[in-house]
Amino acid sequence: MVVVAAAGMLAGADMARRAARPVTGGLLPIAVFGLLGLGWSLMTFKVDRRRGGRAAVTLAPAAYEALFPLGDPAGAGIVALLTTVFDWAAHRRGLLQGAFNVGQVLAAAWAGTRAAEAVTAATPGLPGIGAGALAGAAVFTAINFALTYAAMSLATGRSARDSGVISYAALSNEIVVGCFAALLALSWSAHPALLVVSVVPPTLLFLILSRLEEREGALRRRQKELQSLQELGLRVSAQLDTTTLASVATQIVAHDLRARGAVLAFVGDSEYELRVAAVSDRREEINVPPRLPRGGFDGPFLARREPMIGDPVAVRRFPELSLFGVTSFIAHPLWILGEPAGVLAVYDDGGREPFGAEDARRLSALVRFIEVALDNAKLYDDLREMQQQLIQTEKMTAMGQLVSGVAHELNNPLATISGTAELVEQRSLPEDVARMVRRIRREADRASRIVRSLLTFSRAHKPEVGWHSLNPIVEEVLELRSYECRVRNITLTHELDPDLPLVRVDPHQIHQVLLNLVTNAVHAIEETDRPGLILVRTYREGDTVRLEVSDNGPGIPEENLGKLFNPFFTTKEVGKGTGLGLSICYGIVREHRGRISVRSVPGRGATFTVELPIPDEPAPAEPTPVPAAASAQAPPPDGKGRRVLVADDEAGIREVLREALEAWGFTVDTVPDGHRGLERLRERRYDLAILDLRMPGLDGQGLYDRARAEGLTFPPVIFSTGDAVSAEARSFLDRVAAPVLLKPFSLAGLREAIEAATTGVSPRDTAPAAG
Ligand code: ADP
Repeated sequence: MVVVAAAGMLAGADMARRAARPVTGGLLPIAVFGLLGLGWSLMTFKVDRRRGGRAAVTLAPAAYEALFPLGDPAGAGIVALLTTVFDWAAHRRGLLQGAFNVGQVLAAAWAGTRAAEAVTAATPGLPGIGAGALAGAAVFTAINFALTYAAMSLATGRSARDSGVISYAALSNEIVVGCFAALLALSWSAHPALLVVSVVPPTLLFLILSRLEEREGALRRRQKELQSLQELGLRVSAQLDTTTLASVATQIVAHDLRARGAVLAFVGDSEYELRVAAVSDRREEINVPPRLPRGGFDGPFLARREPMIGDPVAVRRFPELSLFGVTSFIAHPLWILGEPAGVLAVYDDGGREPFGAEDARRLSALVRFIEVALDNAKLYDDLREMQQQLIQTEKMTAMGQLVSGVAHELNNPLATISGTAELVEQRSLPEDVARMVRRIRREADRASRIVRSLLTFSRAHKPEVGWHSLNPIVEEVLELRSYECRVRNITLTHELDPDLPLVRVDPHQIHQVLLNLVTNAVHAIEETDRPGLILVRTYREGDTVRLEVSDNGPGIPEENLGKLFNPFFTTKEVGKGTGLGLSICYGIVREHRGRISVRSVPGRGATFTVELPIPDEPAPAEPTPVPAAASAQAPPPDGKGRRVLVADDEAGIREVLREALEAWGFTVDTVPDGHRGLERLRERRYDLAILDLRMPGLDGQGLYDRARAEGLTFPPVIFSTGDAVSAEARSFLDRVAAPVLLKPFSLAGLREAIEAATTGVSPRDTAPAAG
């Protein structure tokens, strides 16, 4: 192509030198045919070739070919040059192609002119359309098309025939144009006015055909659009995973709109950020962070649900797009299940003309498909999550049953061990024996704490709910932990929603949940060397209140995420972790009809979220007052002259209770089951009864009900249990409003229960913190 362009330029220079001689036919034909050439080059249209592909059909060459027979080869060269340059500009062809075309016509015109001159010189005396003129036209046409074919077959790497250049349509066009050029020359030489007759009909025909072709082009484009929509529909509807879907959607959209790239981002947890789900960019080096500032893609933009076309000026208002080196873009809000959920933007960096209304319309059409697919993906995600929750709940229920059975079996011996040790401790003992007894008690207490935690997990405690705000609980826990965090170089901060609605919770239990979460975060951060950060947030989300604890610790490996809430799952060294903290949290949150979940980016930290339902009933103006915890150091009860009935099937516990109570001055009668207890109650009056809830034969509840039914006067009563309190037992306890002594118990716990039973003030049975 370059060679032809250069040869053409040389030929042009030679012609220019020769054109210094007056143009043979005068300026008028050049002007008239020049104008015709320009006009016709605008009426180009394409026809289907027999071998496939499309060939351009145009009348423009007739304008200069006609000048050869009119004996003006130099004029033909000028008009050819003009027409070619105009065609190049009007159809925005490439620079190389333009240079080639100009060179091509100049070279052909030069050869044609020389041929005409030579033949004219050889056959003098022939006026008008002479042999020289015809030879010039023939040489011009032959060279012009030879060059076209050579260039095309070079460019396509195939022979001119195979590449379809020498096609039926192309040859017909050449013949038609040649004949038409002869007709024009004849008309002009007969009388210039006759030109109108020969020009108007074919021009009109071409005008109509080119208009028709334009229409057809629009139809074709629409058809292509529909095809790509259909393709998009098929590809995206096959995806149920949001991430893959986002990636497919960006690829299709960027390709379809011939854009540099596309980005799909979701509205994040924060109202200032967008979470990038997928980027499809033709430049490989682009590196997009997972979060972008939300900037101009704000609520009102998303709510409008219409595309926004960003021209180079508007782009400046969207600094978040500067990452992509954007010069123009279209952004479209994405709605999922009826809610604004994100943005899909296509952008360009100057490689194509700026996006326009037609592109925006097209993007809107694509977005409609993508939204439907995103709806489905979201529904599927929700379903999968619910399924996982169900599996987790099932697993936990099974584990809870197992755990509560084990705890029950352990509780009675533990109660005996720790009670006896406590009683022995109160004697005066040689120091070495006292130390050993203390050790027994300490270890028994530790075992008791573990058993208590297990019972908390397996719903031993029904939350004592009232209307409370989570905010004061958070403040309390943070205050408790702030010193510890400061010395460990951990920043403990909070973001509390001041308008957080009240929820129905047991504040002590939520306190414990938060304490466990913060303790875990502290432990996790300690594994890293960097300064720690723990953020506790409360906020409202739909009809739930959320409590969130995030840390910048090492995070949680993917494979552990499913096991965290299992009892005894721990990655901590022996002595530091029991693996019960999170299972307790799970038990408590479930009892509150809430949910606890965890997200983590390994290496960057973890976020635990507790969701608690906002009750349907209206909240009171003020939260429920929190009862003060009973003092653990209440004075020992005065048992002088008072008689106690103890019913328990465990001999060890009967002994411990007898010894402890006798030490406080009580007279104690013990029985191993309910039947014998009933007999004792019939025989005499008691001042207090301590009844095990679960005994063979007649249990504590049975004993109480039978005695009442017989009309016996029943003393103040304490129910003891080493078991998870079943819902049935719980409603019984609520009905009789009796204190519960959880086994294993301490002497202080026993004192409190006696105090509560005789004065009617109920003690709290808080479970210990684990972790
Ligand atoms: P424990 O703290 O006794 O190990 P937990 O049930 O509280 O028991 O926690 C179980 C495990 O969960 C921990 O051993 C730890 O591996 C993991 N874990 C809990 N919280 C975090 C956290 N914030 N960051 C990293 N890992 C955590």
